[in-house]
Amino acid sequence: MKTSIKQKIEYLLDCADLRRTRPRAAILAVLLGTGKPITAEQIATKLGRGGPDKVTIYRTLENFVKAGLVHKAFLQERTWHFEPAQNCSKTQCHPHFTCIDCGNIHCLTDITLPMAKSMRKGFLIRRQRVQLEGLCPACNPNT
Ligand SMILES: [Zn+2]
Ligand SMILES: [Zn+2]
Repeated sequence: MKTSIKQKIEYLLDCADLRRTRPRAAILAVLLGTGKPITAEQIATKLGRGGPDKVTIYRTLENFVKAGLVHKAFLQERTWHFEPAQNCSKTQCHPHFTCIDCGNIHCLTDITLPMAKSMRKGFLIRRQRVQLEGLCPACNPNT
């Protein structure tokens, strides 16, 4: 039996011990449906006028991050991009690739990088977040 997006959202909220509310469900639906990291602004645009206001969206995203449901994938132009944490391990998110030509962002879930280690005394690395840049298949002249 195929689980619907609604069931998946309810399951995720229950697991994170977050009460099922309409704004939470709506924001999570956008995050799950997009397939790449997006900003709070972009979520607001997708939800439109009928959706929760921006303050609610920001607060909800922070709650999701705290609950481990959503990750801050990376910072671009001083704006955090968010995505569901389901494709990430405890210690690292998959690398994110930004095309330097068209600007599109891709989740490179096929890459797992060894954890960075610092030789300097006292530095304990707990998480790593890797951002890659280059040409996507559409912009790469060799594809
Ligand atoms: Zn491109
Ligand atoms: Zn990603």
